[in-house]
Amino acid sequence: MKLTVWTYEGPPHVGAMRIATGMKGLHYVLHAPQGDTYADLLFTMIERRDARPPVTYTTFQARDLGKDTAELFQTACRDAFERFAPEAMIVGSSCTAELIQDDPAGMAQSMNLPIPVIPLELPSYSRKENWGAAETFYHLVRGLADRALVRSDRAARRPLCNLLGPTALGFRHRDDLAEIRRLLEDMGIDVNVAAPMNASPADLVRLGLADFNVVLYPEIADTAASWLERTFRQPRTRVVPIGHGATCDFIHEVAKLAGVDPSPVLNSDPSRIGWWSRSIDSTYLTGKRVFIFGDATHAIAAARVAADELGFKVVGLGCYNREFARDLREAAARYGVEPLITDDYLEVEDAIQALQPELVLGTQMERHIAKRLHIPCAVISAPVHVQDFPARYSPQMGFEGANVLFDTWVHPLVMGLEEHLLTMFRDDFEFNDAAGASHLGHRAAPAVVPEQPVALPSIAAGWTPDAEKELMKIPFFVRGKARRNTEAFALERGISAITIETLYDAKSHFAR
Ligand code: SF4
Repeated sequence: MKLTVWTYEGPPHVGAMRIATGMKGLHYVLHAPQGDTYADLLFTMIERRDARPPVTYTTFQARDLGKDTAELFQTACRDAFERFAPEAMIVGSSCTAELIQDDPAGMAQSMNLPIPVIPLELPSYSRKENWGAAETFYHLVRGLADRALVRSDRAARRPLCNLLGPTALGFRHRDDLAEIRRLLEDMGIDVNVAAPMNASPADLVRLGLADFNVVLYPEIADTAASWLERTFRQPRTRVVPIGHGATCDFIHEVAKLAGVDPSPVLNSDPSRIGWWSRSIDSTYLTGKRVFIFGDATHAIAAARVAADELGFKVVGLGCYNREFARDLREAAARYGVEPLITDDYLEVEDAIQALQPELVLGTQMERHIAKRLHIPCAVISAPVHVQDFPARYSPQMGFEGANVLFDTWVHPLVMGLEEHLLTMFRDDFEFNDAAGASHLGHRAAPAVVPEQPVALPSIAAGWTPDAEKELMKIPFFVRGKARRNTEAFALERGISAITIETLYDAKSHFAR
C-alpha cells in the first residue's frame, strides 16, 4: 500500500456506501473502527445531502481488539435492523477491519434476520471505490432480481428499459438521470427501474421485466449489466451520451434496441453547442491545446467533444481507473497521444507541466494543479468538490448536457476581456503592465515589454509602498493612466511623496 495525501478514489467500501446512500430502504452495516465514520462527511458535506448515509459502523476501538469484535458486529446488525427497519442489508468491512479478519458475511448469515442480507467481499488493499460500487451493485442485483419473472408481450405495450449506474456522490448523476429519463420519454420508451439512485430493494426485484438496459456509467453498472444480459437476455447500451455527437449516437442505439424511430427526437434537437462553437470567436477554441484526465468514461467522452465539437487539440488523455485502461488506450490512439493511466496525481501534474496545455479538463485534483500552473480548467469527472454539486440543473449527458459542457469548458477560456485587450493593446504604453488576466492569476501572462521606454513626468519623490500597493488594485488596463494622472496631480501641487490619499485626491480631481 502506498501512503499518499490525496487519492482519486476512496477504498472500495466507500463505493458500497455510494450505492447504499443512493438507494432507499437499504442499510449498510460496516465493520469499521471509530475513525472510519469520516466517510459520512463525503455525503453530507461534499454532496450536501440532508441526511446521514444509511450506514451503521461497528466503531470498534483499540481496546476492543483483545475482546470479541464479532459480538460487536452482531449487536450492530441487530440494532440497525430494529432501528432502521430496512428492506435489505449489505454487510462488510472497512480497510482496517479487514485486517482483524472477522467474517461479517458469516456472522450476519448466522443471525437469520428476516430480510435479505447481502455480504460484500471488497478487498481494500487491491481495489478501489468504483470497483467497490460496481461489485456492490452487482451483488445486490444478483441477490435480489427475481429470475422467475416473465416479460409481457412486447407488441401490446411501449418498450421498457432499466437505467443503470447513477449513485450518490457521482458527478452530476442526479441531473444526468433526469435528462436521460426525459429523452427516453420523448422517444416513447418507459423506464422500468432506474438504479441504484432512488431505487429500493423491491425495485431491483423487478429488473428482469425490462426489454433492455441503458448503462449510463460503465464504471458502476457494467458488471451488473453483463449479469442481466446473461440471465434475462437483456441487451445493453454501449454509448455514453456525453456530448452532442454521442447523444445522437445514443439515440440511434436506443432506438434500435427499442424498435422505435429516432428521427422525431433527433429532429427536435434543442442543443446550442454546434452553432455556438461555430459562431464564437474561433481564436478562443480552434486548435486550443487541451489536457484531459478523469475516470475513463468521462475522459474519453470529453476528448470526443473537445476534438470533434469544439475544435480543440487533445494533447494529453488519461484516467485513474485501471479497470478501463484498455478503452482509454484506444481513445488515446485516436488522438495520437500517449495514454496516461495512473492514480498518482503527481504524475498527472508532471504531464500537465510538460505539455503546457491551454486548457485542462479534469477532476478536482487537476483543478488544483491547473490553478497552481495558472492554466484555465473545468471539471469533467469525479472526484469533485462541493461546488460541483450545484443547486441548479446541470447535467453532463444528453442535449442539455452538451450545452452545459460548452458553458463550463469555454468560459474559463473567454472569461473577462483582459486577454483580448492585452493582445489588442500590447504595444500601447498604457497596457504594458506585467499583470496577466485576472482569472489566470498575476503570473499567467508574461510581462509585455514596451518597445520604447515610456517617459513619465518626473516627480521629486516616488510612491509610498502603500500607495503603490493600492495602485495595483486598479485594473491593469487603466492603471497606467491612473499612475500618470496621479503623478501629474502631485507635480502640480508640489507633493513630494504620493500616498494613498494623494491617489484618491487625484482620482476625485480627474473625475470632476
Ligand atoms: S483505513 Fe481505509 S477507511 Fe480508514 S481512513 Fe484509511 S482509507 Fe479510510
